[in-house]
Amino acid sequence: MADPKGFLKVRERELPLDRPVSLRLLDFADVHAQLEPDQVMLERQSSRCMDCGVPFCHRTCPLGNLCPEFNDLAWRGHWAEAAERLHATNNFPEFTGRVCPALCESGCVLGINQPPVTIKNIEVSIIDRAFKEGWVSPQIPARLTGSTVAVVGSGPSGLAAAQQLTRAGHTVAVYERADAPGGLLRYGIPDFKLEKRHIDRRVAQMEAEGTRFRCGARVGTDVTWDDLARRYDAVVIATGSTTPRDLDLPGRELDGISFAKPYLEQSNLAAAGRPVKDQLTAKGKHVVVIGGGDTGSDCVGTALRQGAESVTSLEIMPQPPAERPDSQPWPTYPAIFRTSTSHEEGGTREYLVTSEQFLGNGGHVHALRVATAERDANGRFQAVAGTERDIPADLVLIAMGFVGPESKEAVAQLGLELTPRGTYVRDDHFQTSVPGVFVAGDSGRGQSLVVWAIAEGRSCAAAVDAYLQGGHTALPAPITPSERPIALPR
Ligand SMILES: Cc1cc2nc3c(=O)[nH]c(=O)nc-3n(C[C@H](O)[C@H](O)[C@H](O)COP(=O)(O)OP(=O)(O)OC[C@H]3O[C@@H](n4cnc5c(N)ncnc54)[C@H](O)[C@@H]3O)c2cc1C
Repeated sequence: MADPKGFLKVRERELPLDRPVSLRLLDFADVHAQLEPDQVMLERQSSRCMDCGVPFCHRTCPLGNLCPEFNDLAWRGHWAEAAERLHATNNFPEFTGRVCPALCESGCVLGINQPPVTIKNIEVSIIDRAFKEGWVSPQIPARLTGSTVAVVGSGPSGLAAAQQLTRAGHTVAVYERADAPGGLLRYGIPDFKLEKRHIDRRVAQMEAEGTRFRCGARVGTDVTWDDLARRYDAVVIATGSTTPRDLDLPGRELDGISFAKPYLEQSNLAAAGRPVKDQLTAKGKHVVVIGGGDTGSDCVGTALRQGAESVTSLEIMPQPPAERPDSQPWPTYPAIFRTSTSHEEGGTREYLVTSEQFLGNGGHVHALRVATAERDANGRFQAVAGTERDIPADLVLIAMGFVGPESKEAVAQLGLELTPRGTYVRDDHFQTSVPGVFVAGDSGRGQSLVVWAIAEGRSCAAAVDAYLQGGHTALPAPITPSERPIALPR
């Protein structure tokens, strides 16, 4: 274990400083300063890990990350071995080390009566060092099985499934409708949270291992789902949950009202230096973001960088408490009031607000009519009479989550079934009713997190490998399709 008395000697949690808000609002680069990791701070923080015998961090992390082991190795300065331990459970620690809400830290035993170990920062420091030192190299399979797999979708679940299956010796092609791999990592999450060079670097490793990428290929139209199922020995559907939840209110047809995802996608394309025709931008506008999750927060940071006049985020739920409530004890991931780096940068957040109507002028939105929300006897939110007010809004971004995959063509061409939640029906082995067709990630689980998507990809790959190898697989399967988090982050 790391220093047996570390947690007694070092009681404070320390994290590297972010770039000052005034500077980071000038660009879309990572909000975290790209400094050399502070070795002394890292060793001090990793020394706090108690290797507590029953490490709950293993359990609260869907990947089963071996946090006490890599904390110990980091403390001893054995960085290459620490990177190996990270990769034992996680194909892409550089993604989770940047965008994960750190479910591991909510389960850290030290967190019962002290601030938890800074596991996420230790994780990202290890993997960044490993890339810098050249310790991350392609793992080319020793032999090929002769089986072929098509993975459709190149988000974190598709990439994880493809990497595992390629390394197991199968010949894998990833079909992606966008022009570059990454899914929401590339065209959802902004660069200030995850610079795209991290995806490019990992994709280069995967290509060197033998995974083939077919970008700009939309399965269902460019190639049909049944054709794909005929041509490959197995198919993994990893197309995400990308159908946005709409807000059907009077005035919804007005210009200036957009779903969050296309707005963020355009901004990410522009940040990559790509031409974007008629880009929807917040410059000089009063912006209202409806929905307070990760997507809403990303809209806030993007709108502020684009030079919005004002940014107001609305949430129908009450403001969460500052501290863990008794109803959400350790080691659950508590719904507490969190301030993202985007919220630090500006804008206002309003809670218990329900949207009533979009108000327009000459066909364009100019305000959003809202009211205070309260729960009725059935627990549903209703507007409180007499509390209506108008918020100026030249741009309204709907960030109310996603209701399931875009499934029309896969259902029609393969005869797949959908759950009442709109996701694909699959069995305990990630397989649909069509033999050889599997489902991983948000398209099976519903809207979730990057860490769950990677766990899904790894576990689905094990199921596919077993299917192709007559029931045997040496690939790890950290989760089952029905496994749920100890407590879901909102
Ligand atoms: C704006 C935003 C911010 C987020 N921020 C965070 C965060 O900070 N932390 C976190 O943990 N999670 C975050 N999430 C959630 C996380 O990004 C997703 O849970 C995760 O990306 C799901 O991975 P996936 O592989 O299942 O699907 P996706 O990442 O959605 O990838 C699916 C891919 O399939 C492709 N595709 C779809 N249909 C087809 C087709 N017919 N043919 C070919 N390709 C197809 C899509 O183009 C896409 O590339 C965020 C989500 C959003 C929208």
